[in-house]
Amino acid sequence: MARTRERRDEGTDQFDDLYWEPRSEVIVEDDAFLEKIVAGAELPVLLAAIAAVLRDTTFLPADLMPPLTPIDTEPHPHGDMTADQRQKAAALALTGLRRIREQKIDSVAMLPDSTVREILGYLTGGRDEWADMLTHELDIAERKGGRPGWHFDGVARGRAFSTLIIGAGVGGIAAAYRYAQAGVPFVLVEAGTTVGGTWAKNTYPGVRLDTPTFGYSYSFAQRGDWPHQFARGGEILDYLRDVADRAGITNEIEFSTRLVRLRWDEQARLWEATTRGADGTEQLRRFSAVVSALGQLDRPNIPEIAGAQLYRGAAMHTQEWDHDVDITGKRVAVIGTGASAYQVVPAIVGEVDSLVIFQRSAPWMLPAPNYHHRVTDAFTWLRRKVPHYVQWYRLWVILTGIPGRAHTVTAQENWAGAPASVSPKNQELREYLTARVEEQLEGRPDLLERAIPSYPPGAKRMLRDNKVWAAALRSAKTTLVTEGIERFTETGIVDAAGQEHEVDVVVYATGFKPSDYLDEVEVIGRDGREIHDFWDGDARAYNGITVPGFPNFFLVYGPNVGGVVAGSLHFMLERAVEYSLSAVHEILSRGIAAIDVRPEALDRFVAWVDEGNRKMAWGQPYVRTWYQNGHGRVSQIWPYTNVEYWDITESVNEDDYEFL
Ligand code: NAP
Repeated sequence: MARTRERRDEGTDQFDDLYWEPRSEVIVEDDAFLEKIVAGAELPVLLAAIAAVLRDTTFLPADLMPPLTPIDTEPHPHGDMTADQRQKAAALALTGLRRIREQKIDSVAMLPDSTVREILGYLTGGRDEWADMLTHELDIAERKGGRPGWHFDGVARGRAFSTLIIGAGVGGIAAAYRYAQAGVPFVLVEAGTTVGGTWAKNTYPGVRLDTPTFGYSYSFAQRGDWPHQFARGGEILDYLRDVADRAGITNEIEFSTRLVRLRWDEQARLWEATTRGADGTEQLRRFSAVVSALGQLDRPNIPEIAGAQLYRGAAMHTQEWDHDVDITGKRVAVIGTGASAYQVVPAIVGEVDSLVIFQRSAPWMLPAPNYHHRVTDAFTWLRRKVPHYVQWYRLWVILTGIPGRAHTVTAQENWAGAPASVSPKNQELREYLTARVEEQLEGRPDLLERAIPSYPPGAKRMLRDNKVWAAALRSAKTTLVTEGIERFTETGIVDAAGQEHEVDVVVYATGFKPSDYLDEVEVIGRDGREIHDFWDGDARAYNGITVPGFPNFFLVYGPNVGGVVAGSLHFMLERAVEYSLSAVHEILSRGIAAIDVRPEALDRFVAWVDEGNRKMAWGQPYVRTWYQNGHGRVSQIWPYTNVEYWDITESVNEDDYEFL
């Protein structure tokens, strides 16, 4: 049955954060201790937190505004404050902590908008155009965005309206949370047996985030006590389960229920959904609207290799890791050197007898010395003692990620350094990253000549380098094969140079089929048209969310919304959910059955994102990446910032839609 949910604690409700902590511990430590803490703090964040706690914006003087120099490789500490600024900021922060101690302050209250603007103005180095988007993330802002400002009963009490949400991963949980807040009845189906989507499926050794943990959470569930700077896969899965529990969603999910078909019933103006249970039984239900939160990177790409059926050893894709296969002391082959492989390889090299890595193209890697580090003691102290410090820190990660590293991968027209690089800045990055690899592979010219990618940095996803990848390549156990794969035998793999590598286990770290959006579901819209026929291999959606001819059908994490060098994933997902709710509000408040995006709106959007992607490293004609689909169009990636996405998803523009 479709349901609505009403359950949240006081306080949590006011601040719209399932992890809201009303009280911190009071500060009792002496000045010497506080000085050490300040030395370990991110100073702009600490000053912002102090200003909020004390309601005193003199802690944010203009001369201590961080310059926020864009990130080339690693984030600049303190937003690239000068040494002089840091010294003054540290002294000021110490004064602030003393005042909090003296006044025994252990909480922070909601801030008026003027104070929010002042603090954000300081943190962003005066970039006022970011303020609205960032307010979406700030618990203690009166205008915190995200929560629907309306309720179903107030708009359409008594109207029969139900929504189907597909998938209980990161996107589906966000959708369920917001639809419940708006009182819009929904059914949430999940093909698997647990929440968590990709984080439930990917359990391979070494799996963890490759973006900073504190930028990887919901605005409505700002967990503070993350143990690692780059969370392990299991930690994220625990978080997602916990969020679903705290939100009261878990018990409402229909697990082991796979959506197989959607058909728009023109007469009834409803979606007819066919779901299949674990026992194969099919169920037919009708819904007013559908929110697809199906993952994009969840259909394993297993390359067709001659003789694969002959091979008698174990074989598995990273996403389907078989933990019953003990790799200890085994001869293992890993095919692929992308984001999954570079986590698996260092994690298993110590355990196996031998490792053969089949590399088609080398990865670029950005320095990340703290990649496996826990959060620091100073950070933990600040989290416990300074109200809201950690939430400001999360905001800081998100705001420095707005421009991210985009400037390092933006192409310059007619750049003579192509195809090795796309601009002078990109060439500089190539040289810097190359020097790092040279240093790490010193004395191993055999590896070095194959470890420097031929394509420009940023043309494919850049990985994080804390030197464990190079160490694994250098291991006496490892053989790097770059000749390509010829065929399988019963006992191993023959490479293109004719050499046979006998292995007990083959790991396909060969990625996914991301261009095939919704490929396991048949979606028949208006006039009997199937969505894949409409797309013809080139998935397109207006704002990444709506598709002409498919009324009341909303994609969360649809085409062209993935960020790679900038931006928060959760922000993009949440905004898509919020936009879909705005559309539902339009339908309810106008008393109409449905809305359908106009084809011209989609064409305009696609032309705009194409223009943006053409200027990026991954959009260059000489680059081949999974960001592009079979037509060569970049259909995965969002080329702009979170702020532009904020702007275009702010409201449902009636000129863009047909009302049915
Ligand atoms: P991927 O980045 O697409 O890498 C696949 C690898 O397999 C590439 O090295 C590719 O080579 C190679 N390959 C593909 N087909 C091949 C073939 N027929 N023969 C030989 N090699 C072949 O896949 P992934 O590593 O699973 O990562 C996919 C995405 O998942 C990432 O970009 C990221 O978005 C996400 N991810 C995130 C995390 C994280 O946050 N922690 C971790 C893992 C994955 P080419 O480069 O030459 O195509």
